[in-house]
Amino acid sequence: MTWDIVSTHRCALGESPVWDKNKNRVLWVDILTGEIHHFYPESGRHDTDRTGQKTGAIALRKSGGLIAALENGFYEIDIDNRLQNLISNPEKHLPDNRFNDGKCDPTGRFWAGTMSMSDKPGAGKLYALEKDLSVTVKIENVSCSNGLAWSPDQKIFYHIDTLTQNVVAYDFEALTGHISNPEIVIQISKEEGYPDGMTIDSEGMLWIAIWNGWKIARFNPFTGKKISEVKLPTAQITSCTFGGKDLTDLYVTSARTGLTGEQLNKQPYAGSLFMIGDTHCRGLETFEFMG
Ligand code: CA
Repeated sequence: MTWDIVSTHRCALGESPVWDKNKNRVLWVDILTGEIHHFYPESGRHDTDRTGQKTGAIALRKSGGLIAALENGFYEIDIDNRLQNLISNPEKHLPDNRFNDGKCDPTGRFWAGTMSMSDKPGAGKLYALEKDLSVTVKIENVSCSNGLAWSPDQKIFYHIDTLTQNVVAYDFEALTGHISNPEIVIQISKEEGYPDGMTIDSEGMLWIAIWNGWKIARFNPFTGKKISEVKLPTAQITSCTFGGKDLTDLYVTSARTGLTGEQLNKQPYAGSLFMIGDTHCRGLETFEFMG
């Protein structure tokens, strides 16, 4: 599999790639600068918006605009009119925490997790913003809440807390959003790197971004085994999602933050959005927030 550079823009900490089929565009964020990027592959147009705070994750909203997990809570964002409104901040009492990775589930809730900005272990939680805009806690004692994915049959939820080096599977009840029976299904060695964001394909296999691993690795969650990997020209690979007309192009985000001048000289593409066009796999449709 081979990569291309999508945009010449370099993020400090690129994350949360989202394919928007209605507008044929890919969106992603730079967590540290609070930018939301929109790129239209057909025309090459690239727009950038700023939230004014650290921006962990975004999702499309069915009724228009975006839903976002920012440093200070869940927000609704009206891109066209440059408006954003706070919906809820479940961690108002924890100013050292910020939101990190997030995504919508198949029935339209927006799930996003938090982490301590001073790396305090177990200080975060995984939350869901429900369709009635109430917030529920899904997982407690999370250190660095990252990748999320739901199986194609919508019966399993997968979650990565990066510091555990594991992917954990839960039974998922689509109607209620209830998760239960956690089980470690994939373990990634530290030599390989740190599991960060992820996506799932139509065969139920997980594509995991490996921070400090220079790659995306495709894992079978039923055997725990790695099936294949795609090498990239930079170490800090953060997340991925399928996009394009047939959902066969894999968009991959990366980061420059923390690299030394010498490392950056050797990794000129650090922070880029990459696209892998020959995965020979297909993703699932992007789920939207239905609230
Ligand atoms: Ca991440």
